[in-house]
Amino acid sequence: MKGWLVEKAREARKNAYAPYSGYCVGAAIATSGTDPATFTGVNVENASYGATVCAERVALHAAIAAGHRDFSAIAVVTPGPEAAPPCGLCLQVLSEFCDDLVIYLATADGAEVRETSLQELLPTRFSL
Ligand SMILES: [Zn+2]
Repeated sequence: MKGWLVEKAREARKNAYAPYSGYCVGAAIATSGTDPATFTGVNVENASYGATVCAERVALHAAIAAGHRDFSAIAVVTPGPEAAPPCGLCLQVLSEFCDDLVIYLATADGAEVRETSLQELLPTRFSL
């Protein structure tokens, strides 16, 4: 799954809307099951900075809107020399639907692809 999910995130990244930071991110999330559906997202910045949404949440929300609730993996492609993990806010939002989740972190140039997990990046979460 790693290769094609990362490639979907890399392709989506071309549509990132990041006129303020220039930091373009693409994400692709795969549903659980034998024939997983995938949903992509990009970061969407706004002149009112607090209204900016990360690529990971855009991908997750698209999947939720399509009726999916179970996920197996997400790939995130970021610029720069090192693949960056999702922000804390995105990890918390992912944890609403996933006890654990494979997370592939890749650089835009493809030089680095790292595999980690939601449990590793967010070992404890807020829950009601
Ligand atoms: Zn985020």
